Amino acid sequence: LVSRVPGTDRSVVEVAGVPIGPGTVTLIAGPCAVETPEQTLEAARLARAAGAGLLRGGAYKPRTSPYAFQGLGERGLRILADVREETGLPVVTEVLSVCDVETVAGYADMLQIGTRNMQNFPLLQAVGEAGRPVLLKRGMHATVEEWLMAAEYIAQRGNLDIVLCERGIRTFETATRNTLDISAVPVVQRLSQLPVIVDPSHSAGRRDLVVPLSRAAVAAGADGVIADLHPRPEAALCDGPQALSGEDVPELARAIGDAARLM
Ligand code: PEP
Repeated sequence: LVSRVPGTDRSVVEVAGVPIGPGTVTLIAGPCAVETPEQTLEAARLARAAGAGLLRGGAYKPRTSPYAFQGLGERGLRILADVREETGLPVVTEVLSVCDVETVAGYADMLQIGTRNMQNFPLLQAVGEAGRPVLLKRGMHATVEEWLMAAEYIAQRGNLDIVLCERGIRTFETATRNTLDISAVPVVQRLSQLPVIVDPSHSAGRRDLVVPLSRAAVAAGADGVIADLHPRPEAALCDGPQALSGEDVPELARAIGDAARLM
C-alpha cells in the first residue's frame, strides 16, 4: 500500500492544512517534552519564528531510565492544545501505548510513533484506525524494509496519511548518539510514495550538529525536518544538550528557508 508505483508522484500528507511532501520543506519544531504552559508557549513562539508549520512536544516520554522525567501525560496534552489555540500551530505528539491512542488523538493533529515502538504492531494498527495522520519514526535498529513494513501495518487499517521520519540508527560510532542515515531519504523516496522527514536532534543528541544535519537532510531531498527547541535548554527536563535555543533560531530558519526557496 505504501510502495511507490514507478512514474507516479509521491504523496503529500496534510496535517490540519499544513502540507508535508514533495514541493515543500516543512519544519516541525518545539520542545522535546512539555514541561509547563510557559515553557511550551515560549518554545512554540521560537518554533514559529524559525518558520515551523507544526509544533512538536512530548507529553508521554519514552525514557531509557524509569527514574527520568516521564512526561506530564494528559496534562501535557491539554497544554499543547492551549498553545495551539494561542499560536495557531497544529500539534504533533507521541503516543506510547494502545490504551492512550484515543486520548492522544483527542488532542493531537498528528500522532507520533517513536523509534522504540516502530515494531509495536498492535500500536501501529491502533493509530491506523485513529483518524489522524501518523509520523512514523524509524526504529533505531530497523532496516528500511522493516520500517516500510511498519508503515504497511498502519496503511492496512485504512490510514495512508503517514510521514516517515529518519532519526538515526545504532552503529559502532559514539561521537553522536545515533548515526543519521541520510541515504535513507532518497532510498525511501524511490521505494515509497510516503513523505520522509529527518530528525537531526534525536539522531545526533548534540545541539551543534542540528543545523548542519538539517542542511544535509534538505540537500538530500527530505520533505521536512523535526527539531527540538527549548527556551532554556540548560534547564530542560529532557534532552537539553540537543535542544536549540532562541539564539539558534535565525540559523535554523535560514537552513530550512533557503532550501524551500530553492525548490
Ligand atoms: C521524540 O521525538 O521525542 C523521541 C523520543 O524521538 P525518538 O523516538 O526518535 O527517540
